[in-house]
Amino acid sequence: MKYILVTGGSRGIGRAVCVRLARIGLPVLINFKSNADAARETLSQVEAAGGRGELFPFDVADQEAVDAAIDKWEAEHPEDYISILVNNAGIRDDNVLFMMSDEQWKNVLDTTLNGFFYLTRRLLKHMMPRRRGGRIINISSLSGVKGLPGQVNYSAAKAGLIGATKALAQEAAPRGVTVNAVAPGFIETDMTAGLPKEELVKMIPAGRFGTPEEVAAAVAFLASDEASYITGEVININGGLYT
Ligand code: NDP
Repeated sequence: MKYILVTGGSRGIGRAVCVRLARIGLPVLINFKSNADAARETLSQVEAAGGRGELFPFDVADQEAVDAAIDKWEAEHPEDYISILVNNAGIRDDNVLFMMSDEQWKNVLDTTLNGFFYLTRRLLKHMMPRRRGGRIINISSLSGVKGLPGQVNYSAAKAGLIGATKALAQEAAPRGVTVNAVAPGFIETDMTAGLPKEELVKMIPAGRFGTPEEVAAAVAFLASDEASYITGEVININGGLYT
């Protein structure tokens, strides 16, 4: 059987992606780092939408934890494979560069970029043999497309993810695996909860923040059979913000 894996599925955009992708009819593995209650709420919403899911906790930034989780899953599912991977887990830890600590730089890069690397490398081994096919969708950001001041670490990580998307798309296309990214602008989640919303909204042509469901809709399209000839693309989802 095929499975879907969404990293950072416990909250925000990841939760909306889990609920939306459950409609495909495949079981959804809901990854998270520490917030089990929130992940259980995602699972409830997946089930309420008529889907199936399982919690799948591990820290994407910890290579040993990634390998241990996938090893265990493979041992328990010898006939199954993960055919849709959404690399969504991410953190931000903003500061101007000259004040940025080693930890702020390292933690943000580790979660977004190394997390992508550890997990995607492992799961490609499921997707590529015998042209079984697959979908990899990376959640980048406006910050990675345009660069945002105060976020040099986050912009670097998210821009790195776009470069990785474009390169891997060319490697994986001959095996029927597509690799795409979405780049959301300002979306209503815990990550943006502390931002000066009234000021920011003035810059957004659509006049509002986006919803996690609006991001999930684009992810669902890229995950669908209809998107089989789209690869190496970045879809901006930002209400018209200049990119
Ligand atoms: P939230 O802060 O609401 O949720 C983050 C999610 O990532 C949580 O599920 C969290 O798990 C998980 N997570 C964080 N670190 C790890 C880790 N090391 N291993 C596994 N899971 C982890 O974020 P959003 O929903 O807002 O963001 C989701 C993605 O979208 C991120 O990559 C973010 O950078 C990106 N994005 C968000 C935008 C926005 O405006 N909100 C705009 C552009 C991009 P737990 O609950 O256990 O902490």
